[in-house]
Amino acid sequence: MKRSDRELGMDRAITRRDFISGVGVAVTGSALAGPWTGSRFARAAQVAQSESPAAAGASGLEQEAAYYPPAATGMRGGGSFEVAHALRNGARWDDLGPEAETGERYDLVVVGGGLSGLAAAYFFRKEVGPEARILVLDNCDDFGGHATRNEFRSGDRTLLMNGGTINIEDLSAYDEPSQAMIRELGIDVGRYTEFHDAELYPSLGLRRGIFFDEETFGVDRLVVGQDGLELRELLAKMPLSEPARRDIARLHEARVDYLPGRSLAEKTGALRRMSYLQFLTDLVEVDAGVLPFLQTWRQGYWAIGSDALPAEIARVTGFPGFQGMGMPGSKPSEGFFPENTPTSAQYFRFPDGNASLARLLVRSMIPASAPGSSAEDIVMARFDYAQLDRDGAPVRIRLNSTAVHVRHVGDNESSREVEVTYVRSGQARRVRGGACVLACYNAMIPYMCPEFPEAQRTALSYALKAPKVYTSVLIRNWRAFQRLGLREAFCPGSYHDSVGLNDPISMGEYRCPRTPDEPMVLHLSRVPLAPGLPAPEQWETGMLELQITTFEVFEREVRDQLGRMLSGGGFDPARDIEAITVNRWPHGYIFGYDPTTEEVAWTSEWPVRERPWLRARQPFGRIAVANSDAANNAMTEAAFSQAHRAIRELLGDR
Ligand SMILES: Cc1cc2nc3c(=O)[nH]c(=O)nc-3n(C[C@H](O)[C@H](O)[C@H](O)COP(=O)(O)OP(=O)(O)OC[C@H]3O[C@@H](n4cnc5c(N)ncnc54)[C@H](O)[C@@H]3O)c2cc1C
Repeated sequence: MKRSDRELGMDRAITRRDFISGVGVAVTGSALAGPWTGSRFARAAQVAQSESPAAAGASGLEQEAAYYPPAATGMRGGGSFEVAHALRNGARWDDLGPEAETGERYDLVVVGGGLSGLAAAYFFRKEVGPEARILVLDNCDDFGGHATRNEFRSGDRTLLMNGGTINIEDLSAYDEPSQAMIRELGIDVGRYTEFHDAELYPSLGLRRGIFFDEETFGVDRLVVGQDGLELRELLAKMPLSEPARRDIARLHEARVDYLPGRSLAEKTGALRRMSYLQFLTDLVEVDAGVLPFLQTWRQGYWAIGSDALPAEIARVTGFPGFQGMGMPGSKPSEGFFPENTPTSAQYFRFPDGNASLARLLVRSMIPASAPGSSAEDIVMARFDYAQLDRDGAPVRIRLNSTAVHVRHVGDNESSREVEVTYVRSGQARRVRGGACVLACYNAMIPYMCPEFPEAQRTALSYALKAPKVYTSVLIRNWRAFQRLGLREAFCPGSYHDSVGLNDPISMGEYRCPRTPDEPMVLHLSRVPLAPGLPAPEQWETGMLELQITTFEVFEREVRDQLGRMLSGGGFDPARDIEAITVNRWPHGYIFGYDPTTEEVAWTSEWPVRERPWLRARQPFGRIAVANSDAANNAMTEAAFSQAHRAIRELLGDR
């Protein structure tokens, strides 16, 4: 082991997995190293093999009392990929013998147990009644899809973090059926201020900061935003050249129309066609020293850097430089140290992010799966995974099960039944349903449903997914953050582009850390990209990176970055890190693709000649398409609204 690894604590026996209520298996980072060994599927199999060989059998590893994915550390996210990728690569499960028949028959089979699939089951049950028989299949070891929960233990304390999707950004953007569902689940967004201690971090003097790394900026330096300091005073603290500082100030302050004499439509068209980086270099003509600083600005939000983000998107989402362009709708820049305030009065988030939405949906349909009855008590409710797939239960959720073929029984037009083949524990099985909702990824459907019309399969294949990584790190205490006056940092050149304390939210029995002596979970974000390439190629490269990166690489980067960034506050990565969970999302945000222009459709309103996602989501007989891909909108509201539309299509005027 290299000395630096020892200093970083790579040899420390931290808890990288602690999910078997007392029977936990402490694994060191190197034991988890190896491509994909940390995938949810591999992890579930690993548990089954190491602790309970019998559990890996057909009866189902979820029946084991030890089965509790939210507390799994190590690698998470992304789901079982082996079967899905084999399908993409040509494997077929069409000629199965009678042993594949389960004999199960449901009113509805849902493929995908993310927020969209769970909402589809919810809407169907609401419409048809509690006697409706529904099966939800998901390839992951947990339900929720992007809505994943990371649960940590430190001493006798439970600490939570979102592993994927975070918040209801603005409930008023949700359609009425989705808003009604949120209310029925017991969520009152108006009560968010009761749970969120907005005063805690300001009362401790914590603010936002920027960490400049030596490799990119010549020196490691943390600059924390300070009250009362002017932009220029803050810039003076940053390790940037004088021309770069001058140009950043100019970018924020100058009211210049960089496209003079053009009409509004011409300006908008020009900004759509150029990247924000081109805007900076060609129109604002900033010094080259500005670019490394702004390349990754808000990359975590858009899942792409400034080199490929259209300047028009930058303009309407608060990037600096557009204040003098005379274009309505330009969002003013909030500066580099914006306050962490919710963006709307209809904002809501749970301590584990939108994972609690998934948990509420599951408990509402399978009450035996978790105790409690309110949106508050869901936060600490321990789910009993053995209850998810019980014989005779009206709603069943079958995890670790990848659907590989969905087709009508008999003629597509007149058929009254859909047959769904899925693979679980290496074995193919078949169930039948009166209808089926595909709440998985659009791009997978052409392989799963070769019977779909060719034009629809082509349209489905145009969905682009951007990869993301959320890493959760449990630390012994957050005194270093207090000493540095830091709550969250943008890290323009580092492996993770942001590092921050979890939002201080206490709900029900859950108490967030309130003093710096308590343990804390940090949220780190990374978008694996290849700057310089067109966005779709960057995302493809990033997905590949996620496939080959070992846990060990993530761990070393986490330790190195935190150690360097927080050294001024006395943080020691070898001593202070207690656990790490890496949530990989190779199939993260959805973006559309316009085949006529071969460009990315950045939002559902982005002007494109064709909207392939509308053609892609057409119902095919008794099979309907849900999921956020179907709206070309990566937000949770799209996952819900598409679920409702799919169910309406299947049920018609019933
Ligand atoms: C990192 C991240 C952060 C986000 N943050 C926010 C946020 O703060 N606010 C917000 O509104 N939105 C956010 N989003 C977007 C939001 O999470 C999504 O819109 C929503 O969760 C998508 O739900 P879904 O069910 O459509 O898809 P998914 O969550 O992807 O669920 C699809 C499920 O189907 C499964 N599946 C796929 N193929 C098969 C198959 N063949 N057989 C069985 N199962 C299959 C997948 O494994 C997955 O579990 C975020 C997304 C990501 C990735």
